[in-house]
Amino acid sequence: RKILIGGGTGFIGSALRSLLKNQGYIVTVISRKPGNETITWEDISKNGIPENTHAIINLAGENVLNPAKRWNDDFKQKIMESRINTTTLLANAIQSTTKKPKVFVSMSGVGIYKPDPEKIYDEYTNIGSSFDFISELVHKWEEASKTSTNVRRVILRSGVVLGRNGGMIKEIYPSFNFCIGGRIGSGKQYFPWIHQYDICKLIIFAIENENVTGIINGVSPQIITNVQFTKTFAKALRRFAILPLPKFVVHLIFGRERGVMLLEGQQVIPKKVVEEYNFKYLYPTIDVACEELVRNKHTT
Ligand code: NDP
Repeated sequence: RKILIGGGTGFIGSALRSLLKNQGYIVTVISRKPGNETITWEDISKNGIPENTHAIINLAGENVLNPAKRWNDDFKQKIMESRINTTTLLANAIQSTTKKPKVFVSMSGVGIYKPDPEKIYDEYTNIGSSFDFISELVHKWEEASKTSTNVRRVILRSGVVLGRNGGMIKEIYPSFNFCIGGRIGSGKQYFPWIHQYDICKLIIFAIENENVTGIINGVSPQIITNVQFTKTFAKALRRFAILPLPKFVVHLIFGRERGVMLLEGQQVIPKKVVEEYNFKYLYPTIDVACEELVRNKHTT
């Protein structure tokens, strides 16, 4: 079966690709650059979706937390467009193709939920309208994946994806290894997370199970805070986490608006994923996830 992955060259996409290939799927990536087993976004807009595509997944998006990029209007536009334009292009291509794929999985984020000290969000929570740049982005990103066809659509609201070879862990690993890691801000903020292996398995689960539809929360079932994560990660590394990253430093590195993503967090549970779909996590707790991150069992 043929699978098409927008942004399949990235952190999540590379791991997903190997898992899919191991299961016998034929994978083509959509990228900005041509390459092996790769087509470009221009190819899609010119020629539409390749024949006999079974599933389409979109993971494309400019890296929001890249500290090398200044948080200005240009960068914010790039963040928006890289997600919305690619998703819209795929939705339109699905619309106009005669032989439709069976399912469209569109990535999204827990940034759609407003950080709140009490509220626990599940897939059925009424989220209301946007409250900051990131939530506005996520609203528009999800909206862009709509088609007026009956192709099954899955929106995956992901928490922070933890994997050794990319994302947040790759950034913080060296400092934790040298005992200069620590909590961010007060550390009391919630930290919605999922292991890289589980997010990939969840995507494959969504492709393979026809009853999976609409919004699903791509987070682990265990709610933790930033301090809990920090302590567990340091313990797995057998290091001390003694140097907190103060709020003002976060503001200096990332800017105030973007810093919110690190200094605030939401309590999110995967109610539908667990109760309705009975999906089984390989890393349901932060203890087992951190052990894996340190031992690096999955080298995908
Ligand atoms: P990556 O940063 O690894 O990027 C994924 C791919 O997006 C890249 O390989 C690249 O493909 C493509 N891309 C980057 N910039 C642009 C751009 N300006 N225009 C078009 N395409 C671009 O992402 P992840 O794998 O970490 O995440 C995948 C998706 O999941 C992203 O949309 C992200 O926002 C979302 N997500 C990720 C989380 C995480 O913790 N990692 C958490 C929640 C959501 P190429 O260079 O081949 O074109």
